[in-house]
Amino acid sequence: MSDEIFDVVQIGYGPVGQALAAMLGQRGHNVAVFERHSSLYALPRAGHFDHEIMRIFQSVGCAEQIEEDVFPATKYQWRNGKGETLITFDWDQVGVSGWMSDYLMFQPYLENALHHAVQQYPTVSVNHGWEAVEITTHADHVSLELRQYMVDAQGRQQATGETKTVKGRYLVGADGANSFVRQHLNLPWTDLGFNESWVVLDLKQKGPVHYEFDNGQICDPKRPLCLFQLGKSHRRFEYMVMPGEDRETLLRPEHAWETIRPWMAPDDADLIRQIIYTFKSGLASQWSKDRVFLVGDAAHLMPPFLGQGMCSGVRDAKNLAWKLDLVLKDKADAALLETYQQERSPHVKEIIDLAVQVGKISCMVDPEAAEARDQAFRDGAVPPPPPFPILRDGLIDHSAEAHSVTGELGPQGQVRHLGKEGRCDDVLGLGWQLISNFDVDELLSDGSRELLQLLETRVIRPIPVVDEPNVADAVVDIDGTYFRYFSANNVSAILVRPDFYVFGGVQDKADIDALILRLRDGFSKRND
Ligand SMILES: Cc1cc2nc3c(=O)[nH]c(=O)nc-3n(C[C@H](O)[C@H](O)[C@H](O)COP(=O)(O)OP(=O)(O)OC[C@H]3O[C@@H](n4cnc5c(N)ncnc54)[C@H](O)[C@@H]3O)c2cc1C
Repeated sequence: MSDEIFDVVQIGYGPVGQALAAMLGQRGHNVAVFERHSSLYALPRAGHFDHEIMRIFQSVGCAEQIEEDVFPATKYQWRNGKGETLITFDWDQVGVSGWMSDYLMFQPYLENALHHAVQQYPTVSVNHGWEAVEITTHADHVSLELRQYMVDAQGRQQATGETKTVKGRYLVGADGANSFVRQHLNLPWTDLGFNESWVVLDLKQKGPVHYEFDNGQICDPKRPLCLFQLGKSHRRFEYMVMPGEDRETLLRPEHAWETIRPWMAPDDADLIRQIIYTFKSGLASQWSKDRVFLVGDAAHLMPPFLGQGMCSGVRDAKNLAWKLDLVLKDKADAALLETYQQERSPHVKEIIDLAVQVGKISCMVDPEAAEARDQAFRDGAVPPPPPFPILRDGLIDHSAEAHSVTGELGPQGQVRHLGKEGRCDDVLGLGWQLISNFDVDELLSDGSRELLQLLETRVIRPIPVVDEPNVADAVVDIDGTYFRYFSANNVSAILVRPDFYVFGGVQDKADIDALILRLRDGFSKRND
């Protein structure tokens, strides 16, 4: 056994593990990743992600590569079996994160881009063909036993007989829905209901194919189905396994082509995968134990009707990464890590509940119930979807004066600074941001200054384009994002965390110092 103690040992190199490895590598930490597959997984699962996730990909330097194949979808519709539109989701807008609201992608391309991002960081080693088999926790580190696998000439995974043990100050289980880490540590799991099987077809198009109805769900009680583009070159169809249907028949290519005949024929595309998934939902009620943490599907599972499973895992990674960074650099006490589950679990629970609810609506196979549903949509009796969840617990401003933007995602606009122009994170850098429409400098106490310095906070005062000539070193709010944000939210300064969530905001500039001191209290409360 080597004596080296990695900062973080990670099990699993799906999209969530990749994102976490890139974030930790970017901050200079020694990370060893172990993945039981012998290479990147070549087939897609997820197809959709949103603006927040694209900003996270931007933060690890792979947004440009991802953009090459993704498809910014402009709308997503639900129709019934008669072709009537039940609801339209308007995605044709730039999200608060500075990227288009929603994207459709081919997951293997995304994973390639994330892998390239990880490879930029020399402190991260990715070890394929190693399966985690035993975890032992010690006072100051965790040790992990691994068994090596090789792919034989027939393409089968075979144990080589090689084993090794590695140590990390922290261990992260990014090892998917059947998480070895979760089960090995007996971390309890709550089943949140839902159990429906769907056939999933992935196709590689032979040329561009577009339909009037390109992306959406057909809530037909005879066979609920959804179709959408997977990036620029692939397409997905998913349809429900109906009561009494024979799985073997459903997995025959001729059955697939017959089902999607209204849209596609073998001349249009190659069928690259046909599989049955059983969609379930669940949540770990404990996301960590001692020095071990769960991220992604290891911690939560949801049916894919909102396209948010991977997105939620990437949010976990972003949340955990900046906290581990501060703790590993001795800038914060390990107690900060307790806010990880506190923040992430309720956020993802809201999304799971909504995904289950939406799934039940679209999976209706009783014609009468489906007709009643359609009528409710026609009558406008279906309430609009709730707003996307925000952070409500953890390290956010909990004071009586907390501004309403607290816990929401902070904005990213296009800025110009010292001749450089682009999205704010690219131009000014990542990490904590104090964004204001006034000069904060003279309003800060020594305590606030110290904290901002410790956290390497970017102090940003975007000014409107019209004022540009008067201010040297200005950060110019080229597209007016910050001006609009401040006026729409009646706020004049916000303190934004490295995961882009707003710690808190103030309307009156005289309150800015107190806000920063409340953040300091938030950190020190966890040190007591
Ligand atoms: C049909 C379908 C459609 C979906 N659509 C969307 C969507 O549109 N948008 C969205 O956001 N999400 C979607 N999801 C969900 C999304 O695919 C998952 O949430 C996401 O892949 C989870 O990523 P992960 O990295 O946590 O886990 P995984 O991708 O499962 O990766 C876990 C990795 O850990 C490895 N591993 C496991 N055990 C061990 C071990 N003992 N040792 C070493 N390695 C190990 C595995 O080999 C695997 O590579 C969809 C899912 C399905 C099934």
